Amino acid sequence: MDLRESPELGAFRKEVRQWVLANLPKQAPDPRGHRGLEEDEYITNWFKTLAKKNWLAFRWPQENGGAGFNEPQQLVFVDELMRCGAQVPRGFGISMVGPLIFQYGTDWQKERFLPPIAAHEEIWCQGYSEPNSGSDLASLQTRAELDGDHFIVNGQKTWTSRADAASWIFALVRTSTEGKKQEGISFLLIDMSTPGVSIKPIRQIDGNQGFFETFFDDVKVPVKNMVGEMNKGWTMAKALLGHERVMTGANVDLGRLIGKFKSLARQYERQGHPVLEDAGYRDRLTQMEMDTDCLLYTRYRMNTAVMKGQAPGPESSIFKVFQAELCQRLYDLGMDTLGPDSAAWYDARLSEEAYDIPMGMTITRAMSIYSGSNEIQRNIIAKRVLNLPD
Ligand SMILES: Cc1cc2nc3c(=O)[nH]c(=O)nc-3n(C[C@H](O)[C@H](O)[C@H](O)COP(=O)(O)OP(=O)(O)OC[C@H]3O[C@@H](n4cnc5c(N)ncnc54)[C@H](O)[C@@H]3O)c2cc1C
Repeated sequence: MDLRESPELGAFRKEVRQWVLANLPKQAPDPRGHRGLEEDEYITNWFKTLAKKNWLAFRWPQENGGAGFNEPQQLVFVDELMRCGAQVPRGFGISMVGPLIFQYGTDWQKERFLPPIAAHEEIWCQGYSEPNSGSDLASLQTRAELDGDHFIVNGQKTWTSRADAASWIFALVRTSTEGKKQEGISFLLIDMSTPGVSIKPIRQIDGNQGFFETFFDDVKVPVKNMVGEMNKGWTMAKALLGHERVMTGANVDLGRLIGKFKSLARQYERQGHPVLEDAGYRDRLTQMEMDTDCLLYTRYRMNTAVMKGQAPGPESSIFKVFQAELCQRLYDLGMDTLGPDSAAWYDARLSEEAYDIPMGMTITRAMSIYSGSNEIQRNIIAKRVLNLPD
């Protein structure tokens, strides 16, 4: 990748920075002592502001109602949002089902579903995992039987993130039991308010309820809500997972995190000295700074492939494994920086810089599980990069 910036791209960078600084809602809520709801409101406000500028769907082509940025512009856009401390747009609608619909959807589906996603008016959730189907997703059992111009859906999904906030769910369902298990799957768009859809919260270790079980009990879904052909949903499932990895890979600002830990390591003391003066601590920090640079260049390699019109190859698996493990190591360092304060949980007595480190530590554990666990990614690397036998 050529890292030099053209004058046009430089002008675009300036435009984005100026606009974000002028329009980012100023009053970020003081998150101490809160459990995320206010933050949701803040993020909703920010996403709607971006949507008015038509920059929320920043990876979508203009003909589909997106910003129409080219790949270098997308990179610059993400860089500038992070630099300004603004949330990069992401979500099941904007980053996952939207791109799938404009790639494979019918004209009706594009017209019906894309505008409310780009305007942040309809929120989506993902119905892939089931109680006995996670890594082995193709073994899923939720059934959809054809009945005239409708499917009748019965079954259960699990780990449905933010199902409480979503008005739509995209779900993989079994429409045939013949042939290979991948061959009998279809991809449906289901209105969460349809009779027979219900959700049940799964309480997390941090007390939050971000996950849900989702039940389908004789749910009527119009056939026109199927994306792609019947029994060819596995192709959709894989394409969507590609979009999911781009989403999860693009917006973790590790440089900012390292800067924050350095600042905290100057404030926190051990045996009368700032933590930052400890040689072992500095050693770990320096290694992680170097690893962060390596990760950035792997991201550029991934983006270069996309810019050349190729699908991101196995480097997206390398990126996923390395990013998840680096984030986990970083938050372990953050916990060590805080010492006994790391046992505090959403504690209003902690500084604004420190308060979210214990929460970040638990959240980053999930990074090696979702979007294909790190073990599954290592299987892909073993097969496609190292050519090892099964
Ligand atoms: C934060 C978070 C959000 C999520 N949100 C959603 C969502 O919104 N919608 C949704 O559908 N799902 C969601 N999931 C579920 C996620 O996709 C699954 O957890 C994931 O696919 C793993 O499946 P599993 O939990 O059933 O674990 P399993 O597949 O049972 O795996 C258990 C362990 O065995 C290992 N393993 C399994 N197979 C192999 C193999 N072949 N080789 C080596 N090791 C293997 C795994 O790596 C793992 O360590 C979310 C998960 C998390 C953590």
